[in-house]
Amino acid sequence: MAALLELVDYTNKLLDVNSFADYCPNGLQVEGHAEVSVLVSGVTASMALIEAAQSEGADAILVHHGYFWKGENACITGLKRKRLQRLLERDTSLLAYHLPLDAHSELGNNTQLAQVLGIECLGHFGPAGDLQLAQYGQLPRPLDVAACCEHIEQSLGRAPQHIPGTAAEIQRVGWCTGAAQSYIEAAAEQGLDAFISGEISEQTVHVARETGIHYFAAGHHATERFGVCALGEHLAKKFDIRHTFIDIDNPV
Ligand SMILES: [Zn+2]
Repeated sequence: MAALLELVDYTNKLLDVNSFADYCPNGLQVEGHAEVSVLVSGVTASMALIEAAQSEGADAILVHHGYFWKGENACITGLKRKRLQRLLERDTSLLAYHLPLDAHSELGNNTQLAQVLGIECLGHFGPAGDLQLAQYGQLPRPLDVAACCEHIEQSLGRAPQHIPGTAAEIQRVGWCTGAAQSYIEAAAEQGLDAFISGEISEQTVHVARETGIHYFAAGHHATERFGVCALGEHLAKKFDIRHTFIDIDNPV
């Protein structure tokens, strides 16, 4: 069993949360039980995850997408009231780590995605003046487009949406999990064959076509399951508590 505040303090330091200017608070967002013996992790603090975690006996839930985003209505009404009520009435804590979890060099979403895809990381990049969250590197061998789609689908359990670029074979790739499709131009400037992120919008198709970089939209949810799971496992070992990752399916 771990003291909640000790676990939070450790995690905040591990992920160096104070060095990020984020769109949401990182760390303990909702305080529940003072002790944690069961930790459940998941991508997003949806009602479905809260209910599934509480069925597992979770004292605390650890997520990548928590609450209290910049610019959202701050009032505790509607869906937000229901989620918070459900957490508070059962004393379930909510810990959320957003950008610090994308960026961490071992447990982070981008490093973990590289491991899942078998890509060797050679460095970081990002738009000028922005966080250098994205990574670039190399597949063990060049793959044609069909093989690359197949490799991503088999690794993530979800077929990517592919927008063709010019390279006949893909080996040098960049990646950034989640909603980082706007990094595609920075990826093209790196001279990479392909860029992999989560989502896709209309304009990204044109950027891929005009810069000649292949784009793979591999799923926001699908690409962001690994960091929070790795962090949960790390905390379970460190504090000798039980950890379960619960995957609430999301096609986007
Ligand atoms: Zn995300």
